[in-house]
Formats: sequence, C-alpha cells, structure tokens
Amino acid sequence: MRKLVLSGLALMLSLGVFAQKTYIHAGKLVDVKTKKILTEQTIVVEGDKIVSVSAGYQSGGGSDQTIDLKNSTVMPGLMDMHVHIEGETSPTRYVDGFRDNEADIAYKAVPFAEKTLMAGFTTVRDLGGSGVNIALRNAIAAGRVNGPRIYTAGRSIAPTGGHADPTNGVKRDLMGDPGPDQGVINGPYEARKAVRQAVKYGSDVIKVTATGGVLSVARDGSAPQFQQDELDAIVQTANDFGIHVAAHAHGDEGMQRAVKAGVHSIEHGTMMTDETMALMKDKGTWYVPTITAGMTAAQLAEVPGYYPPVVAEKARRIGPQIQDTFAKAYKSGVKIAFGTDAAVYPHGDNYREFMYMVEAGMPHLEAIQAATITNAIFMNIEDKLGSIEGGKIADIIAVNGDPEQDIAVMKEVVFVMKEGKVYKQ
Ligand SMILES: [Zn+2]
Repeated sequence: MRKLVLSGLALMLSLGVFAQKTYIHAGKLVDVKTKKILTEQTIVVEGDKIVSVSAGYQSGGGSDQTIDLKNSTVMPGLMDMHVHIEGETSPTRYVDGFRDNEADIAYKAVPFAEKTLMAGFTTVRDLGGSGVNIALRNAIAAGRVNGPRIYTAGRSIAPTGGHADPTNGVKRDLMGDPGPDQGVINGPYEARKAVRQAVKYGSDVIKVTATGGVLSVARDGSAPQFQQDELDAIVQTANDFGIHVAAHAHGDEGMQRAVKAGVHSIEHGTMMTDETMALMKDKGTWYVPTITAGMTAAQLAEVPGYYPPVVAEKARRIGPQIQDTFAKAYKSGVKIAFGTDAAVYPHGDNYREFMYMVEAGMPHLEAIQAATITNAIFMNIEDKLGSIEGGKIADIIAVNGDPEQDIAVMKEVVFVMKEGKVYKQ
C-alpha cells in the first residue's frame, strides 16, 4: 500500500502536479525587445521554462521559492556567437598543439565552459576546434558538465595551407596532406565532402576561413583563400542541411566572395569596404565583429616572445582596426550580432565586447539587445531564447547596478540561471 502511495506521488511529481515554482523579484528588468528597463517585476519559472512576467512583486505558496534580485538588473542569458571553447591564449599555445591529445583538450575545455557560463553567457557558438567541442556540447546538454548551451562548428574548413589547416607551420614530415576529413579542401567536390563530413560528425554550423588569419603561422592574414566555386559549393551543401555558414574574413576580396556565395555571417570583417557593406545589406549578411579579439591580439603582440614573429606582425597591424570597422558597419546599417572570439582572450571576459561596442557608438541597451534577442534571431532560435517572456526557456542572469548608466557593470554577473537551474547566486 505504502509503495503504491509513493509511486503515485512520484508519478504526480513527474507530471508536475506538485511542481515547485520559482518567483524571481527583479528590481530592474531589461526588456531587450523595446530596449527599455522595467522596474519591480516578478518572473515566474517552472521547470526549465518561464511561465510569466508581471509588474509588482508576487510570491507563490507551499514549496514555491522566491529569489530576491530587487537590488539587481535582470536580463536574459547572454549569447556569444563566436568563441573557441577548447583553448585559450597562452605563450605555450603553439607548442601545446604537439603535446595535447583529445582527452587533454577536453579536460582543459571544461573550466573554460564553466567560466563562460558564470560570466552570464548561457548560449555560445563555437566556431572551430579539434572536434572535442562536439563532445563538450553533448556533455553540457546531458548535464554532465556545467557550461553554456553550445552550437558548434566542430572543425573549421580551409584550403591547403589556409587559416585552419591544422598542419600550418610544422616541419614537413609532420605536415602530411590533410583532407576534407580534417576540414582541408581543394575544389568544390572536396568542399561538399568536408561539409557533409562535418555534419556527420555532429556540427551545427559550418565555419570557413575565407581569408588568412592573424593567429595562424602563415604569412598572409588577409588574402582570399578559396576560389568562388569552392565557397559556392560549401554554402549550397550547408543549405541543403539547413545550417548556416560563418566566414572568418579580414581582407575585403575574400569577404566579398563569401558574401556572394551566400554565407550567413562575416566574422571579424576587418578591412570591410563600403562596397562590401552595401553588398551585405543587400544579401542580408550578418556581421560578427569580435572587437575584443582584435584589441587583445594587438596588446599581446607587444609582449616579447608571446607570439611567433609572423603572428605578432599581423596582430599589430590587423587587431586595432576591427573597432573602427564595427563603428562604420553599425552606422551604415549592417546587421550586427554579438560575438567576441573568446580564446584569443581569456574565457569569462566576454563582457569586454560591450565596452568596445559602446565606445564605438552603440547605445548601451542596444549592445545588450545584440547579445540577447538579436543573437537569438541570428540563430533562428528566438521562439525559445533571447528574451524573458512566458513560454521561453528560463535563461536569466543579473548584474548589480544599471547597465544603461554604466556598461561596465556587465563585468560582474551576480546571478546565473540556465534552463531553470541556478548556477550562480
Ligand atoms: Zn575565431
């Protein structure tokens, strides 16, 4: 009999009959859709969902819980559309590539994921690594590891010797001849194979390096890397799977080829011309600036021996330009998603992008909008994430102080809830 009562109770619990609700009292609440700050609001959370948002402070009864954030500013969980969760800048980075096995990379990545979540970023897009990022995404989704929800590219796609060819700069007998399986392609057939292989491995998005890059041990950071037919093949194949292509690009020619091929976003976009901005507006292409990465790379280039000389030279030249490009692109009306290139700078400092965006002319609450509802629209997930509204997933964070007055308050995230579970309070 007792057993029957207990199993009945368990059934009712699992059906949510006695489900506990959480009432969050928000002194201030950022409405990211209207870019306005509301005061004295109650957010009701049940399970992993937001039930309702209403004015004034209400409380539940029975076993319901109340979280007091009356002295804080509450907002949706932040999203960063450009991170590399597997690694982080370090003077030994280039040597580590020869030492670390996948398991080593995985153990190193765990605290990076946790730091990112604790900094208020509940969703990220990982734009390239060894493939461990796919396993990490799965581990976080299954609740085995604490971290943000990850949408991952797995490995990036580059041509032979391009930015993201994993064997750049090594001695010749270690170089071998990597192919589509490792994301290295030459010609449209291999391009198709690399995309299909990436999807088979579990990638959510395709990342291509449309031009050279700053941190690869390769001479040029800005020349185009793919022929048009290769980029066309990548985008068409990805589109067949219904997934986006993100194009890393510093130089303008490679950027234009990527935009013409129909990529979803240009990452960095350092030397973007007016003509390319016009083309992007025409095609609806997004821009993910990653100003923080450019600033950090330029600073680290001044530390003697930190980067190999070929990298330091590029970092000095390319790094500081991104903020000006962002300012111009923003003024011209190019669609901007918030992304930082975390890993080029330490994970958890993602807030710095807000400071640089504001410094370059974006209003404070628009920068927060970029990192929330705009990014959700960018990812086509705005039906479930990006704002605090009834029916959406309960990703909720809070800072002390008022970001409309001082954007630097984004540095100290004091409360983190992801999918209704509190990670920081
Ligand atoms: Zn990157």
